Amino acid sequence: MIIGILKESQNGERRVALSPLITQKLVDKGFEIFVEERAGVNSMYTDSDYKEAGASIASREKVFETAQVLVKINPFDEEDLSLVQKRHILMSQLYHKSSPELIKAISEKGATAFSMDAMPRISRAQDMDVLSSQNNLAGYKAVILGAYEMTKIFPLMMTAAGTITPSRVLIFGVGVAGLQAIATAKRLGAVVEATDIRTETKEQAESLGAKFISVDNTGEASEGGYATEASEDYKKRQKEAVNESLFKADLVITTANVPGRKAPLLITEEQVKQMKNGAVIVDLAAAQGGNCEVSKLNETVVVNGVKVIGTKISPESVSTNASELYAKNMYNFITHLTEDLNFKWDLEEEITDETLIVQDGVQRKN
Ligand code: NAD
Repeated sequence: MIIGILKESQNGERRVALSPLITQKLVDKGFEIFVEERAGVNSMYTDSDYKEAGASIASREKVFETAQVLVKINPFDEEDLSLVQKRHILMSQLYHKSSPELIKAISEKGATAFSMDAMPRISRAQDMDVLSSQNNLAGYKAVILGAYEMTKIFPLMMTAAGTITPSRVLIFGVGVAGLQAIATAKRLGAVVEATDIRTETKEQAESLGAKFISVDNTGEASEGGYATEASEDYKKRQKEAVNESLFKADLVITTANVPGRKAPLLITEEQVKQMKNGAVIVDLAAAQGGNCEVSKLNETVVVNGVKVIGTKISPESVSTNASELYAKNMYNFITHLTEDLNFKWDLEEEITDETLIVQDGVQRKN
């Protein structure tokens, strides 16, 4: 089986789907690998690194011509699709629920496509879960970004000139990104508080040293380990519970999401106006509409001295590690789906069933 690694074309993207280390592991298993020229440069992997790992370096056209399986991080775009053929098996994040046109275009080509972001959240699939591996890094990066924008330091510091009290950090949403944000802010010495609609996250937040702000969630549902949309009643209770901490916070990181929906609004403009002068909010849900009313994607808005940074979960800024982890997820996925270098096509098996969006031009999932 020949696997082709494509260079990402999306603006600002710095990652690559397979690293030289994982390429070597796949070559050792008998897979043949073709890498598009300079595919790994922005993750600090050179063409020679891939060559040493046993891969062949080729032009984009040659990779499409030669490989059966094509791997990427971002969805296949129009330019890719013009080169896709019936025999190709595509693997990338496809966001199929919100990209019906892309799925239709792949189907029209008669090709087959797996979506990495459709991985079921089950224990067996944890090591193939790209949302987790990437969001974990985004949680770390959100704290670093916040720290850079703050006019204060994180830790308690006792100096001859006086004592600096530690910064207070408040995290909304204790999922994968939120947990890493707690761990990172704690490591830097901040006093950390966190809240989430799912009560099971209390123990996880506390195990990392955060104080959990509990909000009575009686009547609120969750599905497959994910939150569903909160009721108006819950939002009111949440506001009352968090306001004291919010108005004292130096840095607020919001990561709350509800799959397939607009991000929940957790901080209104009214609340922002009552925050401390100089406080920073990093809204990681900005691409999904934002957890903060005033946040704007890819912009920093200042309201009453509070900086609100609207950003998206963007692990590409730590591309070397992000590619390393994505590649490991991809390796586990490819080896899970294949036996003796051939696909098993076990459609009864949950991971295959959930991630296989188009098979031989037939759309299986909406
Ligand atoms: P996510 O990105 O969808 O949401 C982030 C967090 O926001 C979640 O914890 C959610 O409960 C919270 N949230 C949603 N609405 C909220 C509101 N109104 N107020 C406060 N918080 C709100 O979630 P995620 O980070 O992708 O992970 C969700 C869960 O799935 C995690 O607990 C994780 O442990 C689990 N998970 C399991 C696997 C696996 O078993 N393979 C893999 C990844 C994640």
